[in-house]
Amino acid sequence: MSSFKDIGLKPFLIQAIEDLGFQKPTDVQKECIPLLLETDLDLVALAQTGTGKTAAFGMPLLQKININSNYTQGLILSPTRELCIQITKEIQSYAKHLPNVNVVAVYGGSNIQEQSKRIKKGAHIIVATPGRMQDMQRRKIVNISKIDYCVLDEADEMLNMGFYEDIIKILSKAPKQKNTWLFSATMPLSVSKIAEKFMNSPNEIVIGNKNSGAKNVSHEYYTVSGRQRFEALKRLVDVNPTIFGCIFCRTKRETQKVAENLIESGYNASALHGDLSQNQRDTVMNSFRKKQIQLLVATDVAARGIDVDNITHVINYQLPDENEVYTHRSGRTGRAEKKGISIIIVTQSEQRKIRSIEKLIQSKITHKNIPDTDEICRIQMLSLAKKISNVEPSLSAEKLIPDFTNELNNLTKEDILKRLITVELDRFYNYYSDKSKKLDTPKKGSSNKNLVERINKKDEIRYHINIGERDKYDWRSLKDLIKSSLGFNGDEIFHVDTMRNFSFFSSGPNEKSKILKGFNSLKINNRDIDVSVTEKFDSKRAKKSKTRKKDRSFLKKKSVKKNKINPFKYKAKKSKQ
Ligand code: AMP
Repeated sequence: MSSFKDIGLKPFLIQAIEDLGFQKPTDVQKECIPLLLETDLDLVALAQTGTGKTAAFGMPLLQKININSNYTQGLILSPTRELCIQITKEIQSYAKHLPNVNVVAVYGGSNIQEQSKRIKKGAHIIVATPGRMQDMQRRKIVNISKIDYCVLDEADEMLNMGFYEDIIKILSKAPKQKNTWLFSATMPLSVSKIAEKFMNSPNEIVIGNKNSGAKNVSHEYYTVSGRQRFEALKRLVDVNPTIFGCIFCRTKRETQKVAENLIESGYNASALHGDLSQNQRDTVMNSFRKKQIQLLVATDVAARGIDVDNITHVINYQLPDENEVYTHRSGRTGRAEKKGISIIIVTQSEQRKIRSIEKLIQSKITHKNIPDTDEICRIQMLSLAKKISNVEPSLSAEKLIPDFTNELNNLTKEDILKRLITVELDRFYNYYSDKSKKLDTPKKGSSNKNLVERINKKDEIRYHINIGERDKYDWRSLKDLIKSSLGFNGDEIFHVDTMRNFSFFSSGPNEKSKILKGFNSLKINNRDIDVSVTEKFDSKRAKKSKTRKKDRSFLKKKSVKKNKINPFKYKAKKSKQ
């Protein structure tokens, strides 16, 4: 079955599909649509965002409801307001030739009266976010006591966002006799639990592999020192002149900083994170959708549920803490059968995460070298040439030709071309002319013994630093901060252990004076950074300590004085370097 006509859709849907220009059903549509149309069953479908899931449940839903009855027959729960709006619009577009059907979006951060007016007109299908849905239920605006169909879309995201209790409360008001269709990109335990609780021997459809990345996405990673992360990002953007991409950072602060730095360096970028108001976020998203913004720098939370077509690249500026999040990030590209690239920038110490992500997505992540400056300039020049050869000359250009030719009549064709390249690409040539060509640090395992192994234990110098987890650092990000502040780009800093209010790290003897002087004028969260040498390594005591909790109770019992703490007792988040 390879055409929409073969999968049992009624003419009103075929007409809408033709209007939309869809050529053939996607894999998830081929599997789900006939099954849902022909049978009344519960379904778990595992498919990435961007694979055509909305049509896979939306079309059968539209075809199965009775539009002559006004009661609510279908409820679709979605994790975010952006996705809720998107699903509603998408289903409305499939219902274009089905008169009088009412599909209503119910989501927070928007006027509840307006939404309630639309519901009162008789909503056949409600698309809702869990929070606003419960609010509407409490106010008795919505009634789902007779629904026949319930769709849990992006179930894994809903559970990640802590909506488990809300889903239970919402569905307690729905009848037992209904069909539940669950769509999820990944299948963590929490999703299986939901399936068990709410579904009746569901059929399972898996598009690709469980938990796998989208099939149209290729994955690549680049190893750099923490200090060079931003420079690497710029090169990766510059070597892809037509990039339309989403850059993911771990924290709001980093997201804002990366976006600001990109803008300052002349890129068309914008930040999207939770410190922006809903209005600001909507504005950014609208501009991104219209491609007025080329690079969206976002946190995972803010980017949840955002499905924009034609994203060419996802860049993991930093890897997420949980590998599943990577699946969601990379699923932002390669949508609607298009190809996409997911790029990961890692430091040597983060590199071990690559293997575990490969296992999860069941796909190879290829190691690549950061392009050198000649390569970037060449690609920029070729892109300019392509742009020139593809552009349709405008009428106004034709009118200006005589004056233009007159102005340049003393130049040869070659001179003109050289000058054109200079005018257009000077930014790149100037910028890269004084940069060293290679940026990569060697892949882990490819270098000789690292410094940690080379340094004799008795030469290891241990430091105390007054930055900790309260400043939102873990050992990895703190190590990056220390190295970038001091201009180190190898393995000079190791054994980083973070506590709540302070942390410890080690170096060899050669780095000591730089480390003690290097933080003089730096501040974090309005505090001066303070680094001092602390007690020597005590291997016997280090072995004794197991967990941070135990260490804390030990502290209490023995009343160890705060300034006499032996850092090696605190093995809380030990780096593996
Ligand atoms: P979804 O996974 O539902 O968010 O869909 C991703 C994008 O693919 C949306 O923009 C849809 O309009 C589009 N789409 C859905 N089905 C098809 C299809 N069969 N052919 C081409 N595009 C599609």
